[in-house]
Formats: sequence, C-alpha cells, structure tokens
Amino acid sequence: MSQNLHYLTIRQLQEMIAKGDVSSVEITKDVLSRIESVETDIKSFVSIYSDSAIKQASSADDLASAGNTSPLNGIPMQLKDNLCTLGIKTTCSSRMLENFIPPYNATVVNKLSRLGSVLIGKGNMDEFAMGSSTENSAFFTTHNPWDLERVPGGSSGGPAAAVAAGEAIYALGSDTGGSIRQPASLCGIVGLKPTYGLVSRYGVIAFASSLDQIGPMTRDVTDCAIVLNAIAGQDKMDSTSIKSKTHDYTEALTTGIRGLRIGIPKEYYSKDIDPNVSNALKTAIDKFSEMGAIIEEMSLPHTEYALAVYYILAPSEASSNLARYDGVKYGLSVLDADSMWQAMESTKQQGFGPEVKRRIMLGTYALSSGYYDAYYLKAQKVRTIIREEFRQAFERYDALITPTSPSTAFKIGEKISDPSHMYLSDI
Ligand code: GLN
Repeated sequence: MSQNLHYLTIRQLQEMIAKGDVSSVEITKDVLSRIESVETDIKSFVSIYSDSAIKQASSADDLASAGNTSPLNGIPMQLKDNLCTLGIKTTCSSRMLENFIPPYNATVVNKLSRLGSVLIGKGNMDEFAMGSSTENSAFFTTHNPWDLERVPGGSSGGPAAAVAAGEAIYALGSDTGGSIRQPASLCGIVGLKPTYGLVSRYGVIAFASSLDQIGPMTRDVTDCAIVLNAIAGQDKMDSTSIKSKTHDYTEALTTGIRGLRIGIPKEYYSKDIDPNVSNALKTAIDKFSEMGAIIEEMSLPHTEYALAVYYILAPSEASSNLARYDGVKYGLSVLDADSMWQAMESTKQQGFGPEVKRRIMLGTYALSSGYYDAYYLKAQKVRTIIREEFRQAFERYDALITPTSPSTAFKIGEKISDPSHMYLSDI
C-alpha cells in the first residue's frame, strides 16, 4: 500500500479501490492522520467529522465489494462551509451562522453522498464568501500550505489549502467573483467555475445570486472533470439551473487539442501582472501552441470596467440577500433589546463582521432611490456589454487564456487593512 494515499488523485485511488489494493477506510484514515499532523498549521477546516467519515468509508467499502464503481465512491472530500449539510453545522465562517444547522442538504451534497463520497469536514472561507484571502473569516485565517506566511486566497481558501495539503482528496467551493479560481491558483491546484446554471445552487448560502456557482477544486484536470460529471445537471429546486446535454467531461481530455482556437485577450496582460504569473502563462501558451492549438491575440475592450461593475452588482445583490438575517428566522438572535427593531439591529451588529457590513452598505447605497440609475442600473448595462463581448469572442474561439490572479499568493496581513487594495486583486 502506498504511504501517501492522501496525495493521490481521485482517478488513482479509484483504480486502486477497484483492484482491491486499498479500501476507503484505509484512505480515509490516511487523510485523517495527515490532518492530525498539519491542520494546526494550515487551519483549513471549520469542523472535522472523523467518526462519521470512517463510518461512511466503511459503507463505501461495502458498496465497492457489492460492485459499485462510481468514481467518487469512498473518496474523502471537504465542503466549503457555505454549502448546506443536513444536521451538520454550516457557518459561512460567520458569527451570524456559527450555530446554524441546516434542515436540508444542498443538491450537490445529496449528489456526492449518493455517489458514496466521504465527508471529512467543512472548509474555512471568507465570511459569507466576501474576500480574497480567508482573512475575513470570523474564526481564523487559513494558511497557504506552500508557505505558511502567505494567504491561500479566498473566499474558498479552506478547500484550496485542504486539497493542496493532502487534507482532502478534493473539495467543493463556490465562486461568485473568483472564489474558486483564485484560491485554486494561489494554492497550485485546479479550480473550475462552471457555466452559470450548469450546477444547481440549491443549498449554497446566497451571496450574489446572479453570479454564485458551485464548482470542483481538485489536484488535476481529470479529477475536475470527474467531479463536474457528478454535480452538473438541471435541478427543479433551482429555477436558474439549465437543461444541458449530458456530457462525460472526462471524454474530451484524451482527444488532443490540435486545431483548438485559443484567444489571448490583450487587456488581461497588463504591466501590473507579477512576472511570476506572466512567465507561467507564457510557458503554458507555448505548450498549447506546440500541441497544435491555434493561438491568436484578441481584444475584450470593456475589461477595464469589469471590476467596478462587479463591486456594484455583487454588493447590491448581497445587501438584498443578507436582509434575511434579522434574528428571527436563521442563526444568531440577540433578544436582549427594548424593541423588535433594536433586536434586529443588535443581531446584525454582532453577527456580521466588518467586510460583510461594508458590502451591505455599498449595496444599499447603490440600490437606494436617487442612486439606483447612476450605479446599479448603469452597472447592469455595462455587464450586458461585457457579457456580449464574451459571447462574440466564443463564436470565434474555443477558449481564452488569461491570468487567474495578478499575483501569486500574497503575505497574510499585506492587503487586509485596505479593502480597495484587496478588491483590486480580483481583477
Ligand atoms: N474576492 C471576491 C469578493 O470578495 C470573491 C467573491 C466570491 O467569488 N465569492 O467578492
């Protein structure tokens, strides 16, 4: 048996399970002992469920001996803590939901559980998925496993660090404006924001509903395709989920890329990009070209407005979505007050951290009467233009290559005192 099961991929482990070389209980125990040795430094988990993980692994082993060949059967994973898990705390790394136990599973959670995947625990994140470093978690900051003084990115920093450190074989994150892709990039793993509507959002705690998507965080592209196969598909519980052809996403991985048309949007290659990032991109682009892809520089002229538009629309939707945390229906309830209004005020005051409050204020301002047309409506119009630009680009190109983030992982503390500095890293 391999010593480092926790560093193998889903595909490798599945082959070993199928041959009877290893059991899910062995894999799960190996992952748990890895957690035991590194988690105090990394802090990727908000909660860990060792006993139930071993039980799930043992049922997965029974299923495997009965002939279950699902690629995720018996594979240990972490879920970002904004994905609702029935009977299991789902905190969004917020004081507001610190003791919230959902009465239902997110659709993606049901899907993974039906396929026999083993839940190890829930992953740390920026509070309500607002942030790019996990420093906005109300509980603690996650550390980048490659350099503990650096951030793992965010908001899905816990899941990214867990996968990079061998504390989970794969994870699910959520991405509104980069929260899967940026931490995956900063931790050196693979992350995918699926096309909006491809994966059901039912059971992800809402941040900005027109942008939120759940997606895979894995060690390689094959695993990413395997996990996407498991979670994609229309869901009657999410009216924005789309009816799409069922693909086996792993099929396209072996056919080569000769003739693939790839666009390089020049606006994404500014002088502000860290040379470590631009050099890695150059190597990748050369590789694609060597493998037969047709590479062409192109333009997405409205790129410069994207960040501003995002930081109007996402907070606007957040201010509306987060109005539900009024101390009555969910989570924290501060009842030591003279009136109902004061109880609501104290609940929000104590339940939300500074970044969440900042977003609610930004959004409330952009939506308020007199400013709505100047900010929210205008941003919606520019969003439409940007979206149309991408639609046209994809008529001509199969793919675009851009940097994920302007820099590699930055130091903990480097950007947290200046919110606009942090926002700029989302470009
Ligand atoms: N950095 C982005 C933000 O702070 C990440 C949002 C996300 O994708 N959840 O808004």
